[in-house]
Amino acid sequence: MNNKNLDRRQFIGAAAATSLAACASTPHVFAIGNKFARKLDGPGAVASHNAHNPTPSNPKQKGYSAVTVAVERMRAGDKPVDSAVVGAHLLEDDPYETGVGLGGLPNAEGIVELDASVMDGTEHRAGAVGALQNIQNPAAVAIAVMRRTNHLLMVGAGALKFAKELGFKETDLLTPESRKVWLQWRATLSTKDNYLEDEEGGPISPAVKMPPLGTVHISCWDGKGRVGGCTTTSGLAWKIPGRVGDSPIIGAGLFSDDNAGTAGSTGRGESNILIAGAHTVVEMMRAGKSPDEACLEAAKRVADTCEPRLRRKDGTPDLNLSFYAISKDGEYGGSIIHDAPGGGDYAVCDGKGARHEKPVALFPA
Ligand code: ASP
Repeated sequence: MNNKNLDRRQFIGAAAATSLAACASTPHVFAIGNKFARKLDGPGAVASHNAHNPTPSNPKQKGYSAVTVAVERMRAGDKPVDSAVVGAHLLEDDPYETGVGLGGLPNAEGIVELDASVMDGTEHRAGAVGALQNIQNPAAVAIAVMRRTNHLLMVGAGALKFAKELGFKETDLLTPESRKVWLQWRATLSTKDNYLEDEEGGPISPAVKMPPLGTVHISCWDGKGRVGGCTTTSGLAWKIPGRVGDSPIIGAGLFSDDNAGTAGSTGRGESNILIAGAHTVVEMMRAGKSPDEACLEAAKRVADTCEPRLRRKDGTPDLNLSFYAISKDGEYGGSIIHDAPGGGDYAVCDGKGARHEKPVALFPA
């Protein structure tokens, strides 16, 4: 069919159908009635790709696997929400992970501002922090907000004061590498300001033009129907100071409910907040959709509602978002708006070990 003959909504529907057909032919996917589902083998986790990097291309990176640690913790009896946070800590502590915690790329003024959320699907409780500076493990502060306050979301200076009262130590989160990239970004902003590029500084980092997405989302299922999750990030690189993304917004970057499932998202936060992405995915699963279908529906809503200035010439959104989900029965799945060959996979860990799997793409490459 010629896409020119389709209006945008039809085109997206056609693309979605193509994606589902492609998904059905992958070895990991089996059909249940008219649904597509993959099932966790015992306690398991799904997460953004960086939560499982067993063979990191950067030799300085640790051979970490946050999903493996999260599953080990659930096997030892920890709740899904606590297990997700322990997994997230591995990446928050890694100076070479540029989207979270230590080494996260900073805002426009060179200051690292972190967002994080946690949700316990059993107790239906959540905690979150936004624009938190100088604390390496914002996910741990989010869990403290959940367990030790009557509040849900704390931001900025108040969140930092709260964290310090609990004994969290302040740390300079800029590393030599992230400072260098920020300085390069600032020097390339304009030829009319007074900042010059460092002639000794080597090639311009690709992160200057295309900030890497490095948010970590981990959703956990304990094999007995309990779910929980964590999303942690330094947010969009070079953001305006004070900007808060979707990661600490319960219902957007994270939502967990034992009666339906758990879900989270990474990618352009503003677009996700507008469709309440994680909540949308969980509600779709509650209504009977498989995790793949539910995640794809969230991606489709972003594409359907995206404002014109954010669209490519072909009408598709000029942005990307990934969704991750586990149902209350342990089925799991994920979607991405634009297929990112080699880059869009998500992490899974269960009794079969840790691995990467392909999300369903709304717009295949
Ligand atoms: N969702 C994050 C934000 O908008 C960014 C990301 O996932 O990389 O802050």
